[in-house]
Amino acid sequence: MNALSSIPLMPKIVRHVVRSLPAASVLLVFVHLARNGFRNLSRLGWTEAFLMAFLLVGLGLSAWRRVRRSALGSPVELRDDLELGGGLIAAAFIVVSIGGAFLFPLVYLLMAFLVAFLPRNAGLTLLGVALVFDGLVTLGVKKGGGWPTFATHSIFLALFAGLYHLVLSARIAAARMAENDAVQKRIKEVEERARTFRLISSGTQDSFSGMNQDEKWLVASVKEIEGAVGAALEVAETALRTHTCAAFLLTSDDRSLKLYDCRSTSERIQRERFNAGEGIIGGVLKRQAPVRMNSQNGIKGITYYDGAPQVAAVLAVPIIEASGLVRGVLVADRVMHEPFSDQDERLLSTIAGEVLRAIEVERVLTYIRKSRDEKDRFFRAIEELNRAGSPEQVFVAVLESARQIASLDFCAVTLVSEADGKRVHRVMRMTGVTAAGKALEGRSFADNNGLVANVVRYGAPLPGRDIKAMDRQVIFDEETQIRGLGALKIFPLTAGDRILGTLVAGSRKKVLDSDVLRMLEVMAIQAAQAVLRAQLFEQMERMATTDGLTGLLNHRTFQSKADEHLAQARRYQRKLSVILTDIDHFKNVNDTYGHPTGDAVLRGVAKILREKARDTDIVARYGGEEFAIIMPETDAKGAQVIAERIREAVKAEVFQTELGPLKVTMSLGIATGPDHGYEKQQLIDLADQCLYHAKRNGRNQSVTVAQMQGGKRLQVAEAG
Ligand code: GH3
Ligand code: MG
Ligand code: MG
Repeated sequence: MNALSSIPLMPKIVRHVVRSLPAASVLLVFVHLARNGFRNLSRLGWTEAFLMAFLLVGLGLSAWRRVRRSALGSPVELRDDLELGGGLIAAAFIVVSIGGAFLFPLVYLLMAFLVAFLPRNAGLTLLGVALVFDGLVTLGVKKGGGWPTFATHSIFLALFAGLYHLVLSARIAAARMAENDAVQKRIKEVEERARTFRLISSGTQDSFSGMNQDEKWLVASVKEIEGAVGAALEVAETALRTHTCAAFLLTSDDRSLKLYDCRSTSERIQRERFNAGEGIIGGVLKRQAPVRMNSQNGIKGITYYDGAPQVAAVLAVPIIEASGLVRGVLVADRVMHEPFSDQDERLLSTIAGEVLRAIEVERVLTYIRKSRDEKDRFFRAIEELNRAGSPEQVFVAVLESARQIASLDFCAVTLVSEADGKRVHRVMRMTGVTAAGKALEGRSFADNNGLVANVVRYGAPLPGRDIKAMDRQVIFDEETQIRGLGALKIFPLTAGDRILGTLVAGSRKKVLDSDVLRMLEVMAIQAAQAVLRAQLFEQMERMATTDGLTGLLNHRTFQSKADEHLAQARRYQRKLSVILTDIDHFKNVNDTYGHPTGDAVLRGVAKILREKARDTDIVARYGGEEFAIIMPETDAKGAQVIAERIREAVKAEVFQTELGPLKVTMSLGIATGPDHGYEKQQLIDLADQCLYHAKRNGRNQSVTVAQMQGGKRLQVAEAG
């Protein structure tokens, strides 16, 4: 590109004349110098004035030309350098000629400057030019100068030029080498990391589980590897001296680009997604090939800044997978007008490959880490389920784990039971809210057409596929609405061939992904097993502590409960009463009505005891037809109130038998601590004595220790 071509209407001949002005001015000045011109200030005439003006114009023209060429990015020709350097040398010779020989070092300095800053060819040529003209001036015309002066000048000119050139080029070479080293080192590091990771990741994800040592190593490497894109961009930034170096990735719909990582001096890099089809980047994506551009006045079509940037050079390469799939663009730009070279393009393409690898690595890592987390949580959940001792603990564990695994918004466990041949469903535990905001826990509902009932009926998860009108689905029963769910799945709690209930999982999101569903399904099976186990355990415990006929606590449990409560009463000095009961003439019942009727009577009496005793009282079957009650915080008077209620109720109860209605009565003995100590056996013995006292005194009555002792005294008194 010719700098002067921008002046359009200038005739060709005039252009040629203008173009040769700088060289002509230099030549004329040297001719005049050789002819002993520019002697001293007083002898300056019109010729000198004209030549100096001419030289200035020439210098001005060549300087302007150089500035324009470098600004446009066109290469600077040798001729340009020679014209500018020649002009400066000519000016220096004029100054020396006018001012005197002592100013000649100016020429040395200028020479050193020219040699240092102009390309070597231009510098050496100009050195030659300076020597020739010095020779002409010193040897040719000037008298008294001669060879010694010229030799001195020549030696010093060569020295200055040579030394400067040597020193500078050595320093530049050193700086270049250092920079190259830094870049090479960085590239090596990045490659090393990528290689390390590829080695680790070459196995399947299964190679991570159970391999503790490797796992640790991996975790330590992960952070390093994740910085690989950053490192690659850093290399590009250093090597290409960029204003911005940024990786943009295509979004899943391929329509937009989103910043992945960047190194930039600018604060205005577009961080939001932007249209992938426009501008230079759009071109790179479309052609799947690098694009290079430069313009002094700012490049148009730069879309990755927020606002109008002033970018003078840009280089963009696509980030392409081996399969040909374009993943994004790697962009480098410069604000200064310094166009990118072929070598720059090769480097950025290599770095694009590095970025692609790093992205792949990150994707794999994220997947591994996510699924490892999920697995961890899943196994913890199963563990938790297996640890749960009671059904209640199982429900809590199920809900907690299900929510963690799937981040569910609604979750419930229901159990099914049979009563009189009919199924009843019951919500055992739930998280989330119903439409009415009510807690559903403990709510029972009959076998209906809702999803829960159907899951129990058919033993398969429901709904089979996504349902549109989720809000209108009956999950439990008509009255219970769960709103706002986007996805729902109800799993049967299956243990062997038994269906114990359901696990209800709901999310506000539109879908529950298949991994999550699989885990929930497995968890439902585990939960069912845990529920069954816990139920069996509970049943066994019940059998061990209760009496099979009446359902009351058995004798052994009565003894340990008595110990417990007496210890507590003793510690806090509280009252505690013990009641022993015995059915009157029960042998007759058995004898007359048969043993089974006797059993029925025992069950009936036990029921009355349970009903009439308070919640805090401990009711147990003490022996055959004897029952015992521990009454914490109760004195003799209070105990007798309850005892009387029981006695009245037993007396009023009518048992239907084959032989007609049957009524029984009961005698009760009451002992109280600390009135008679806190010794268990002592209290029980006393209560037994009171009971015996009641029997002896006509049965169908309750007797306290005080009454018994009063009675004894009474008897003694009567006897006396
Ligand atoms: P008393 O009024 O003096 O208590 O007269 P009683 O006939 O009730 O005499 P006792 O308390 O000694 O009677 C105990 C009887 O209770 C003996 C036994 O046949 C009966 N019995 C004990 N355990 C059971 C049981 O589990 N089922 C039935 N049907 N009878 C039982
Ligand atoms: Mg008895
Ligand atoms: Mg009896």
